[in-house]
Amino acid sequence: MRIILLGPPGAGKGTQAKALAKRLNLAHISTGDLLRQEVAQNTPLGKEAVIYMQKGELVPDDLIIQMLEKRIVQLDAQAGFILDGYPRNLAQAKKLDQILNNMNKSIDLVFYLDTTEKVIIQRLSGRLVCKNCGANFHLTNMPPKKDRICDFCGGQLYQREDDKEQTIKKRLLVYYQETASLIDYYQQQKKLVHLSADEEAELVLEKIIQKIETYHDSLKI
Ligand code: AMP
Repeated sequence: MRIILLGPPGAGKGTQAKALAKRLNLAHISTGDLLRQEVAQNTPLGKEAVIYMQKGELVPDDLIIQMLEKRIVQLDAQAGFILDGYPRNLAQAKKLDQILNNMNKSIDLVFYLDTTEKVIIQRLSGRLVCKNCGANFHLTNMPPKKDRICDFCGGQLYQREDDKEQTIKKRLLVYYQETASLIDYYQQQKKLVHLSADEEAELVLEKIIQKIETYHDSLKI
């Protein structure tokens, strides 16, 4: 299975992608996480990308596409993957189709996690991320047992620089300007599944799993 999770920042793409990847034994590919690793390691790509990330803007397509191409051919992605945060615009979507086509592969399903702006702001402004393992927490919805300490690995929790209010607004604007048009693109390909993602993560996950099962059943007919 090759699945894309689409939706605004704060829709829960990362949370759902992690849970789905574990449940279905697929690779979780988050371009945001890959970029944050590059930034943490201070690589040339990281140094260039951080300038855009801090402003809530998209990192240029050529950098992202190169990084994605390298990741997609790794062994753990051969049986399938969940893409989280890619594609972000039409050019990236078309390039992905081309890369997969060259490998005789294609995207199976695209989930659009529809979320209201109120929920987005509430989720992002309280989000805490583990520096060590990347697990997500929330100041009020899902607080860690110990203040600012990860329940899973004991790592330190921090607020992402781009989860501050001004940058959230910019990221939302970029989403509506660039990414929202992908909904039409995948609808035309008859791959889009529209879900409300305002509910709790477990409920959204079950809805996604159900749709994947229906898709599998339809392939057997
Ligand atoms: P995310 O973790 O998906 O919210 O991404 C954080 C930031 O990384 C975004 O605001 C962008 O600056 C950058 N980024 C992540 N994925 C992409 C992408 N596919 N294209 C361009 N920029 C990206």
